[in-house]
Amino acid sequence: MKLAPKTADRRIPYGLHCTWWDSIDKVGSRDGLPVCPHCRNVLLEVDSLEQWLASARRYEADGHPGYVAFLEWQRGRCFPNFDAAKAAYAAATGITIP
Ligand SMILES: [Zn+2]
Repeated sequence: MKLAPKTADRRIPYGLHCTWWDSIDKVGSRDGLPVCPHCRNVLLEVDSLEQWLASARRYEADGHPGYVAFLEWQRGRCFPNFDAAKAAYAAATGITIP
């Protein structure tokens, strides 16, 4: 019997209580549950990077200039909220997100 080919898990997990997001292989674990690898808080997920970025592009087009680049910069970084992420982004890049 031949095993079915392994398919890549394309889900994108993101923090419910923090700004972290990344590929599914980067999640941490707490009591057997997937969590943010930095702050160990709970995660939600979307099906794919394409879906994740499409949502970000819609949000940017809806009057939030610079949001996609800001979101991409945040990948793998954990901040407790978006204000903290925006401040760190401004310090790192000189770009202010309204
Ligand atoms: Zn976190």
